[in-house]
Amino acid sequence: MASQTTPTAPVININAGDKEIACDGGGGALGHPLVYLPFANKSQVVCYYCGKRFEKRPSKA
Ligand SMILES: [Zn+2]
Repeated sequence: MASQTTPTAPVININAGDKEIACDGGGGALGHPLVYLPFANKSQVVCYYCGKRFEKRPSKA
């Protein structure tokens, strides 16, 4: 919802052709069970475990 004083969540750029991403939080203390996050028709998705944001790059060479 509204973003208020959110910590600087990392943004990971992924290939525009990917339909889903897998996130495990990066392992270590911040890790979490591996989850797959489908993009559906969206250009970005946020991991509900660790808050990482995955954004598709603009499709240009
Ligand atoms: Zn995650």
